[in-house]
Amino acid sequence: MRVLPQLFANNREWADSFRAQDPDFFKKLAQQQAPDYLWIGCADSRVPANQIVGLLPGELFVHRNVANLVIHTDLNCLSVMQFAVDALKVKHIIVCGHYRCGGVRAALENSRLGLIDNWLRHIQDNIEKHESRLNAIADMNDRANKLCELNVIEQVMNVCQTSIVQDAWERGQSLCVHGWIYDISDGLLQDLNVCVAAPAEMKPVYQAALANI
Ligand SMILES: [Zn+2]
Repeated sequence: MRVLPQLFANNREWADSFRAQDPDFFKKLAQQQAPDYLWIGCADSRVPANQIVGLLPGELFVHRNVANLVIHTDLNCLSVMQFAVDALKVKHIIVCGHYRCGGVRAALENSRLGLIDNWLRHIQDNIEKHESRLNAIADMNDRANKLCELNVIEQVMNVCQTSIVQDAWERGQSLCVHGWIYDISDGLLQDLNVCVAAPAEMKPVYQAALANI
């Protein structure tokens, strides 16, 4: 029970399948990583980053937390972003939310779940920001899914506002920030058309994205 043998068996099978295609696969990976993408997604077990976009180990730098939030004082997320942008020189940062997000739903319903309520408070700030739009949606599932989309758009803006991204753009580094949403009921991604590649694009892209959803 304590050693979870099935997971180790799965792991050996997984590693063998890569070695069968390329005997040096892991040796090459051990030398360096050079991913082009940073993925900021939800911790939800149904949203596995690499599998969704069909990328191999070494191709996607990943940060996940509950409800894919980018908070300006979260040293964990900021450190991942800083290393990804400054050291790995990723070309794209993808914020990927998902429909039926439990964190988003809990924020919407003002549930009392414990410590996490303080984390989800950041979503409640966005609920207040978009209150009239959300309140106009009678069905609670639809309202929660709309909030999932709004949350992604807001987090994209948070990424763009960080000193990390601002400084990268200032020095002319090519860096594009994207906002996507994933539907766990069909396995498909949707681009929320909130793609920002320069400071001047932030406001118009934000407004267009809000008008588009
Ligand atoms: Zn989620």
